[in-house]
Amino acid sequence: MSEKVLVFLEQRNGKLKKASLEAAKAGADLASKLGTEAEAVVIGNEIEAPESVGGFGIKKVTHLKNNGLEDYSSDVYKNLLVDFFNEQNAGCIVFGNTAMGKDLAPRLSAKLDAGAVMDIIALDADGGTITATRPVYAGKALIDVKVTSTKAVISIRPNVFNTGESTGESAEVVVKEVEVPEMKSKVTEIKKAGDKLDVSEAEIIVSGGRGLKEADNFKLVEELAQELGAAVGASRAVVDAGWRPHSEQVGQTGKTVSPNLYIALGISGAIQHLAGMRSSKYIVAVNKDADAPIFQIADYGITGDVFEVVPALIEEIKKNK
Ligand code: FAD
Repeated sequence: MSEKVLVFLEQRNGKLKKASLEAAKAGADLASKLGTEAEAVVIGNEIEAPESVGGFGIKKVTHLKNNGLEDYSSDVYKNLLVDFFNEQNAGCIVFGNTAMGKDLAPRLSAKLDAGAVMDIIALDADGGTITATRPVYAGKALIDVKVTSTKAVISIRPNVFNTGESTGESAEVVVKEVEVPEMKSKVTEIKKAGDKLDVSEAEIIVSGGRGLKEADNFKLVEELAQELGAAVGASRAVVDAGWRPHSEQVGQTGKTVSPNLYIALGISGAIQHLAGMRSSKYIVAVNKDADAPIFQIADYGITGDVFEVVPALIEEIKKNK
């Protein structure tokens, strides 16, 4: 495959998401392995500094613009991307495996008759063939997938591909006014869940489980998270109990996360929880049961009571600030 590599830049309220920068770097690296160029495409109205992806190896960004494109629509975004992909005679498009990426990538692959490899954690190319690595069996094994189709749609797991420092270069930005067809469905209102950091984008996550005993005790988890600038996560047991919102649930039926640091407090480490966080770079667990399965994947484990260990940790962090 030597056709152009495209990167889809996801934005929210005009700001590029971190996952977009990771996709930009991964796409640019893939293009250089394939001996081709990487370009990016962003859809929306006003976009803040799209040229910044130049610092991650992207030479040109096309901004498909219309003030009717502020809100996401699966159908409209898919149609615009399919047309753009064909117009550019591209061979591959890279998404972040975010909620939007998960929605768009399969639609695009069906329309383009392209092979899709989702939620990958490594990307390589040899002799023009793309090989992507992705976790299977709830993260217990990794498989290498060779893309044999002429076109490829790839989504990369957030927080896994390191962007490194920006080189400071700017990409050329081409603004293209586009027509927005009548939408079959439209976002009419957005209710914000709050200004809390989302677990799927956080570099540090402090998660709590049933070991916290009751909803009110999550203030300990929140306090530690605040000290560390972290997002709060939760096990399904506490979400099902109504202690925490589903948006915080980590695991097979919640979100998949890959932060630099994952702190599990009073979480046993059931296979369905591990499925969502085992690719975290460092895992720290606090559990009073020394045989809890979470300790099998933890880099650092503390056998102890969360109600003693966490206040001591908070105090120590405050002292060291
Ligand atoms: P428990 O398993 O009850 O563990 C509590 C832990 O706290 C224990 O290890 C205990 O030793 C420790 N503890 C107790 N008191 C203290 C204390 N004072 N100090 C320190 N430690 C203490 N789960 C998820 O998390 N995410 C999912 O997405 C998910 N999806 C699922 C999908 C399916 C189809 C199924 C069947 C299950 C799923 N589950 C999921 C549920 C999963 O199997 C477990 O039931 C759940 O993860 C347990 O949550 P927990 O670790 O908080 O609770």
